[in-house]
Amino acid sequence: MADGPAMTTQQALEPSARVRAYTDRFAQFLAEDVAPIEQELAKQGAGTPDNPALNAQGRMHPAVWEARRQVQRRAGKLGLHCPHIQERFGGGGFGRVEMHHVEEFIYRHSGLGLGLAALAWTEGASPPFEHVSEAAREKYLLPLVRGEITTAFANTEPNVGSDVLGMETYATRDGSDWILNGRKAWITNAHFADVYQVVAVTDPGKGTRSLSMFLVDAKMPGFSRIGDQPTLINDGLTGRLQFENVRIPAENIVGQIGDGFALAMSWINWRRLCRGGMCAGWGEWLVERAITYAHERKSGGKPLAQLQAVQHLIARMDADVYQARAASLVGQARLDQIGAFCIPLDREAPRLVSLVKMTSDEAFYRVCDNAVQVHGANGMLRGTPEEKLFRVARNLRIPAGATEIQLNAVSRTLLKEGKAA
Ligand SMILES: Cc1cc2nc3c(=O)[nH]c(=O)nc-3n(C[C@H](O)[C@H](O)[C@H](O)COP(=O)(O)OP(=O)(O)OC[C@H]3O[C@@H](n4cnc5c(N)ncnc54)[C@H](O)[C@@H]3O)c2cc1C
Repeated sequence: MADGPAMTTQQALEPSARVRAYTDRFAQFLAEDVAPIEQELAKQGAGTPDNPALNAQGRMHPAVWEARRQVQRRAGKLGLHCPHIQERFGGGGFGRVEMHHVEEFIYRHSGLGLGLAALAWTEGASPPFEHVSEAAREKYLLPLVRGEITTAFANTEPNVGSDVLGMETYATRDGSDWILNGRKAWITNAHFADVYQVVAVTDPGKGTRSLSMFLVDAKMPGFSRIGDQPTLINDGLTGRLQFENVRIPAENIVGQIGDGFALAMSWINWRRLCRGGMCAGWGEWLVERAITYAHERKSGGKPLAQLQAVQHLIARMDADVYQARAASLVGQARLDQIGAFCIPLDREAPRLVSLVKMTSDEAFYRVCDNAVQVHGANGMLRGTPEEKLFRVARNLRIPAGATEIQLNAVSRTLLKEGKAA
């Protein structure tokens, strides 16, 4: 009889020993570090982490921002903030399957609490930072990994979103410096970041080589934050930026001039892949909450849990969470083999990344819709997890590339390879 495989597919997709060690430490961190900060925040009348009070312009209350920063600094000290960054830069060196498990755990166990801020996301160290100069590494990357500063990714513009190569912000060379002009819009953490990853045109007409990425320090003359853009998710973090003759030294170029499109895609793909753990973790939380509610709430004298119509809503939620988790783990396992953020990127990667994002976002939207349905009017109540996550789920289908853009990437690969004939 032939020998069986050394490792089953199931084993290869399970959390590694270091992921289990990380999640054990994270559970302790939530109880010992995050819970007291949440209790302190609750006394301040600044709202909650997921429903912060906003000022007249729609910006997050500073007390909520500071509570999130405390969590990030503490997570940085404990080595919990950047498991996705390479070990040589102070991160955990985790692969994508490992990060799926980390992210699923954090979303499942933080719910909508401050624990979500612990892991570097949009405002933390990202794959492009692994390409910065030695000087920028000391000044920005290492403090980011330690949770001491925050960043933002500035790609989208008032006139250009999906069509990245159509952007209008541009930089021109002046000796070894670059002079940056233009505007960015819909930028998460626009108001608070210390340093911005800005994508700009440096070589018009050169297609995917026409863009470059620069690090713009918030203190640089000519840089300004020009307005808030309150959105459906009401987090008070989105805004617009302006660059007027901002002088950027060569040490703030990320990678090489002309690498901007590839670097921007590595940031975008990182955010796309994080949707797997996010949607599975939050989705699992909503399934558990729906089960509890269905046992407690009665209709016609018996619990909702005994009604087949409600049982089916919960079963559909479970099926969608399963779909998001399974697609994410299988896709990210392959990306661990071929490289998720390599420059240049393997030609198989864009389709896999888009499948993970689209499957997760769409499945999670259905989960949230059904979660609201199980809760009836209570699921519509402002400030409940069901109501908030329904809005979050609607949002997820747009940033980091709308669903249509993921479909474009998938079909482009299939048609090029002749599989979709
Ligand atoms: C809450 C929030 C946070 C964000 N954070 C950031 C951030 O931190 N940094 C950043 O740079 N950006 C950020 N964005 C911007 C986001 O990435 C863009 O909104 C997104 O890429 C879509 O671009 P757009 O809004 O300009 O839509 P458009 O590109 O104008 O698209 C409008 C519609 O047309 C469709 N469409 C457009 N082109 C095509 C095409 N070629 N084929 C098929 N359909 C197409 C789209 O799918 C969409 O349905 C954020 C947005 C939001 C809402």
